[in-house]
Amino acid sequence: MRKPILVANWKMNGSLHSNQALLVRMLAKLRPFRKTVEVAICPPFPYLFQVRDLLGYTGISLGAQNASRAPSGAHTGEVSATMLQEMGCRYVLVGHSERRALYHESDNDVAARFRQVRSANMTPILCVGETLEEREQGQTMAVIERQLRAVIDDIGMAGLTGCIIAYEPVWAIGTGRTATPEQVAETHWAIRQFLENCEAGAGESLRIVYGGSVKAGNAADLFRSPEVDGGLIGEASLQADEFSDIGAALANRVAETESACDTLG
Ligand code: PEP
Repeated sequence: MRKPILVANWKMNGSLHSNQALLVRMLAKLRPFRKTVEVAICPPFPYLFQVRDLLGYTGISLGAQNASRAPSGAHTGEVSATMLQEMGCRYVLVGHSERRALYHESDNDVAARFRQVRSANMTPILCVGETLEEREQGQTMAVIERQLRAVIDDIGMAGLTGCIIAYEPVWAIGTGRTATPEQVAETHWAIRQFLENCEAGAGESLRIVYGGSVKAGNAADLFRSPEVDGGLIGEASLQADEFSDIGAALANRVAETESACDTLG
């Protein structure tokens, strides 16, 4: 069974003071679900060191929000994957829609970043998703397949092994508007089918998480389908209680799925 994961994307928020207060409360509140749900925190680069120290031996992983497409050298302002690995990162977001839209990262850029993360022995969390216009034109899967294909063409299916895919409809990120549980389940299923067609077993083994205005109040609905292996959480990850309640909703779903499996024998 795929272990569910909850990933906090703090985006460009926080301070030394607020991070400390947030994490102390969050760690205490997440303790009951740590065995069932994996958790990763992706702070802004300058706080990686602080967050790494606060996470200590809690079992909660450190992640970064991006990595350079270059391994090293004259790339002012960039941070390489090997630096992130040295800082203790286990996960790195690649292709977040804010990076694609605001910083013009193309599918090829995203593929190159993915490759760097892989070469530095970390796990990429590859963000894919359509705009509202693309969804309304029935282009959702065409867009997602194009985004996935760019990475597969660059690194091959073997390079995808163990990575995480985050389905994040662009129109649901930071907008308060969420996809319906049916849209989420349907799109996750279609992504699995696509991966399965690329390589037998890939669809079943990869974790696919949902992101886009997940809150404590809608998490149980959004996580209802076993197609959903967790969440990538932006705004709600800046509040300890909200984030841990989302964790609780995911842990409950897992427990329900397990007991249904036990009943079926
Ligand atoms: C995100 O940043 O990946 C995200 C899903 O943000 P939010 O939860 O705020 O929509």
